[in-house]
Amino acid sequence: MKIQQINSRNIVFSDDRADRFFDLNIHLIMGTKNNYLIDTGLGSEFVQPVLEYLEHSEKSLVIINTHHHWDHVFGNHVFKDHLIVSHQLCRELIIKNWDEMLDKYSKFGMGTVEQHLPNLVFENELYFPEDKVRLIYTPGHTIDSISVIDEEEKVINVADNIGDSMDEIIPNLYCDKQLFEETIKRYSEMDMETWISGHNVVLQKDVIGKIEEAMKKHSY
Ligand SMILES: [Zn+2]
Repeated sequence: MKIQQINSRNIVFSDDRADRFFDLNIHLIMGTKNNYLIDTGLGSEFVQPVLEYLEHSEKSLVIINTHHHWDHVFGNHVFKDHLIVSHQLCRELIIKNWDEMLDKYSKFGMGTVEQHLPNLVFENELYFPEDKVRLIYTPGHTIDSISVIDEEEKVINVADNIGDSMDEIIPNLYCDKQLFEETIKRYSEMDMETWISGHNVVLQKDVIGKIEEAMKKHSY
């Protein structure tokens, strides 16, 4: 597990072992009041480095699921006593797709994998004012995708709305293309310095321009 300190309160934990078919990031924001862990990866072992990192922190840990896909929720059960926040559709889609996800992907699990659902859901937006952490609904990669904004350090986590590599900067879309276009437009109007996604490297604002170019080239 690679641990990258992005700035004073944003840390990215990346699983980049060569034998995996993709890299995977989970992201910690250490706020003033709470800590926030964005996604829980592949299971109990996957989140262990985060727990070790937070060993001496006395703040509450809030878990955020960016969307329902297995590689973002398999470690949820480790945080049963915590607030787990997601879009309302994320909770529904985990329930609907769990058996299939487990069937197909439990072989990629690390440690234990169990279903544990988000226990606080929202529709459009949710704000933690003491920490200046804002969750917004940004459908595109999936219908339940959200983004997490650290307004203090101008960091945004867009999960899988950015593709997995620079060659595939447009992600797989499991919902209406138009919703993705609207979300990209919204991103292009934001003044964020650091762009974190589920599987790509840590990026700068120009990544949104690159997505727009790729969309034009592929006549989106
Ligand atoms: Zn995904």
